[in-house]
Amino acid sequence: MTDCIFCRIIRGEIPSQRVFENEAFVAFRDIHPAAPVHVLLVPKRHVPDLLSLRDDPEGASLMGALADVVPEVARLCGVDRTGFRLVANCGEDGGQTIFHLHFHLLGGRAFGERLL
Ligand code: AMP
Ligand code: ZN
Repeated sequence: MTDCIFCRIIRGEIPSQRVFENEAFVAFRDIHPAAPVHVLLVPKRHVPDLLSLRDDPEGASLMGALADVVPEVARLCGVDRTGFRLVANCGEDGGQTIFHLHFHLLGGRAFGERLL
């Protein structure tokens, strides 16, 4: 998508603090960090949101690829031992503001409040 902000970051048209990249994902620091470590894990391919993966022939492999990306980014950011929270906002009630699928990896502080 030409005017999607995350597609533009992935293409290098908008600067970002990139911490990781492989064939399927990039990870860069959130511009408004909600924790000492706040990194966005973003598939290189434009997928609007979590629900779009259901009808995507590569949706399952993309989620599988995430299983490699999460521990690697956690290690690179120094939170693999202390722990972290992984969040995907979906849709309006989920608080999603950028409609290119992404996962927030948050760490470096304790998240006392429980969501469930
Ligand atoms: P969400 O609300 O789940 O869609 O998350 C979007 C996130 O993208 C927010 O946490 C923003 O702070 C972050 N964000 C927006 N623009 C940029 C940017 N140019 N570079 C890094 N993070 C960004
Ligand atoms: Zn995009």
